[in-house]
Amino acid sequence: MSGETATARSSRCRRCGFEAPGGADDWLRIEVPKLGRMTQCPECESTDIITQR
Ligand SMILES: [Zn+2]
Repeated sequence: MSGETATARSSRCRRCGFEAPGGADDWLRIEVPKLGRMTQCPECESTDIITQR
């Protein structure tokens, strides 16, 4: 019951369902002109990532 860690917000790929903590090394980071830095899924290379709480 105890030991509930303060988990970081997790991010999920809407395309393939890949899930990892937001900011984790699992995610790829790409820089897009105009849009800035984006998170990219390492599994399907989609940038359609949602961050959950
Ligand atoms: Zn994916």
